[in-house]
Amino acid sequence: MLWLACALLAIGSDAAHAAEWDLVVRHALIVDGTGKPAVPGELAVRGGRIAALGSTVAGAGTREIDAGGLVLAPGFVDVHTHAEDILRGPDAVNFVRMGVTTVIVGNCGASLLDVAGFFRDLESAHPAINVGTLVGHNAVRGQVMGSSFMRPPTDDELAKMRGLLEKAMRDGAMGLSSGLIYLPGKYAQTEELIDLAKVAARHHGLYASHVRDEQAGLPEALQEAFRIGREAGLPVELSHLKLSGNLIQEQPAETVAALDRAKAAGLTTQVVEALAAARRSGLRVTQDLYGYSSTYGFLERLLPKALQGETPEALGKRLADPATRTQLAADMKAELLAAGRTDYSHVVLVNPRRYRSLKNLGVPEATRQRRGTDSLDAQIDLMLGILQNGGATIILYEMSEDELRPLLQLPETMIASDSGAFQGSGELRHPRNYGSAARILARYVRTEKLLPLPEAVRKMTSLPATTFQIKDRGELRVGAWADLVIFDPATVQDRSTYAAPNQPATGFRAVIVNGVVAAENDAQTTGRGGRPVRRGQ
Ligand SMILES: [Zn+2]
Repeated sequence: MLWLACALLAIGSDAAHAAEWDLVVRHALIVDGTGKPAVPGELAVRGGRIAALGSTVAGAGTREIDAGGLVLAPGFVDVHTHAEDILRGPDAVNFVRMGVTTVIVGNCGASLLDVAGFFRDLESAHPAINVGTLVGHNAVRGQVMGSSFMRPPTDDELAKMRGLLEKAMRDGAMGLSSGLIYLPGKYAQTEELIDLAKVAARHHGLYASHVRDEQAGLPEALQEAFRIGREAGLPVELSHLKLSGNLIQEQPAETVAALDRAKAAGLTTQVVEALAAARRSGLRVTQDLYGYSSTYGFLERLLPKALQGETPEALGKRLADPATRTQLAADMKAELLAAGRTDYSHVVLVNPRRYRSLKNLGVPEATRQRRGTDSLDAQIDLMLGILQNGGATIILYEMSEDELRPLLQLPETMIASDSGAFQGSGELRHPRNYGSAARILARYVRTEKLLPLPEAVRKMTSLPATTFQIKDRGELRVGAWADLVIFDPATVQDRSTYAAPNQPATGFRAVIVNGVVAAENDAQTTGRGGRPVRRGQ
């Protein structure tokens, strides 16, 4: 009997032991997000937070994951997204499957205005990942100025804009975002932005900007962002920092002869120096970028700069007038030839609104199909025709990895996808949506060895979390939220390509959000543990 009592006691004690942790990750290589070298270790989760972390963790978990020596890191924090649509697609497959556990939405000036309402909706939608938001300048400006926006606001309008921003900041927005190539923000003067950024500054938010020029005018555009940060007194985040434009060409090889490499390299050096000088002056400046040498945008982007940002109606009117149209075509042709190009083979039509048969074709190929010739005049005419018929999104191959790499290596650069939330299928888009984080680990860490693994992880975890004041995330330490990713550094891989962009990344043993397993062995689970993320909370 005594023996039986002892055995029961032992069982009882085992049972108590088993309940000690909700989840334990064993045999992991811990990369904690701070940039420190990897160390072998184990981690335990209780109540959605990291409860124990060390070379070993005593006591069993209700659930145990043997990492088998794979990397255990904080879940990735993607600060530049357009995932407001996560309410419609709460599984956020593209993010979960590449290890992203927190996103910031409301970038490039476009956001929801009712932040409190958005957070309430998120709470009931139970997304798979955590979501925070910026307040968009274009959203605020559009709400107050309506269709009369090609001018500075009146004092009264500016006061109303301040009021909307003030409320959003109180409700937990991370700061003010701007998109100064888009409507109506394009018509805002620097003073207006400084005035509004002061509201964000009072709430200790930041200013995130899609600057006015990402081409040859980038150095000047950066100066405007710095001035706003300096005069409003808040940190500046440069969104999807890149040097693009006609003078920077990567492929195809036959056009390389036209490259003005020295000019592009000089611009890159100028940008790196401008960033360093701003930081030396005491300004807090950070930047995010995606690791691809192509961009995604609208066909309008190929028009002469003066015509970008016109309303669709104004542009339609212009194109309907034969003389204006002829002049416009001549201007586009001159601009292209001056850049050393002979055609638009660097442009792929992704989703033409009306000409659906041209989906995913390069402009010369699309023109051949439609017009039976791919002469430059016919290419331009086709593009103007598409613009008159609802427009199209495009992928532009006009960046170079030579320009990307030095920016990627800067210690203040974080990785972001510039993506919406997707469910595993849908329209063709840019491969960064499904591949961004994984591509950094595969291409720039493993293949090119451009970044050490702990540094790449820091750029995707503690750096973004600290910059955007996301509390208790982005770092593996006791007390932090259990946002975790376990991946194999030898096999982690982005699978999305230009031809097939909707392919989730692979090499992820597990992705865990607030202690809830969201993906396992490269498959999404039904677990959705995401929460709203308010500034500083
Ligand atoms: Zn943008």
